[in-house]
Amino acid sequence: MAWFQKTANKVKAKTPPVPTKGEGLFHKCDACSEVVYKQEFEAHFNVCRSCGHHEALPVRRRLEMVLDPGSFEELDTELAPADPLGFSDAKKYKDRVRSTFKNTGLRDAFLSGVGAIDGTPVSIGTFAFEFMGGSMGSVVGEKVTRVFDRAYEMKAPAIVFSSTGGARMQEGIFSLMQMAKTSAALHRFRSVRKPYVSVMLHPTTGGVAASFAWLGDVVIAEPKALIGFAGPRVIEQTIREKLPEGFQRSEFLLEHGMIDAIVPRPELRQKLSQLLSLLG
Ligand SMILES: [Zn+2]
Repeated sequence: MAWFQKTANKVKAKTPPVPTKGEGLFHKCDACSEVVYKQEFEAHFNVCRSCGHHEALPVRRRLEMVLDPGSFEELDTELAPADPLGFSDAKKYKDRVRSTFKNTGLRDAFLSGVGAIDGTPVSIGTFAFEFMGGSMGSVVGEKVTRVFDRAYEMKAPAIVFSSTGGARMQEGIFSLMQMAKTSAALHRFRSVRKPYVSVMLHPTTGGVAASFAWLGDVVIAEPKALIGFAGPRVIEQTIREKLPEGFQRSEFLLEHGMIDAIVPRPELRQKLSQLLSLLG
């Protein structure tokens, strides 16, 4: 039984709608309601200049932001999810995958490939939260594994951006197995003694946080990202206690020694470059 398909299905992705005149010219900050030109907001990597609020960044833009221009080569594009359990909830898993592909143009919740940061070759991957909440099924697990395997072959640093709700329930145990599989690939990569930098975005939770995302040699988070295993509501209901202010946010985790640094998005490329030159 295959856990993922090697040949992507033939459904065509929708072309994005053409904006009508004047539409989308301005952007209003979700946090402080400051209104700025959308172009200016996007040029600042979707970070509000006024209050520093980080809004979601399109997945390819994230890679462009940190890699040398034109250096990214996307790989593993032939992988698409199968439906090993024949799973169905409100909708069949197969149909959910198909409609998400049509809406996002993505085959699954992860993009992987190779690129360079200030001339240093890197094996890199990033979650796409817009694809089923960035959940990790067999395809995501395989792609993350390949990021570490390629880094091992290239003897190059590995970088993974996580933004995920955790395991993909539609793939049941096959999804949970990816925690062990990716961690094993990371363990093998350790032997080449190159750094693995894990960048946790908002949110990074569940099986991803509990495996490779928290196993970075350096663990970086974006400001105010929600990071943890179970969400705060689940913990409060389980322990029947009120959680402290800011619990599971980057700032709280840094203060308690759970992550190494909080890096605002506009400074990330420079910080990664600095880390790679220090750690080789
Ligand atoms: Zn703002």
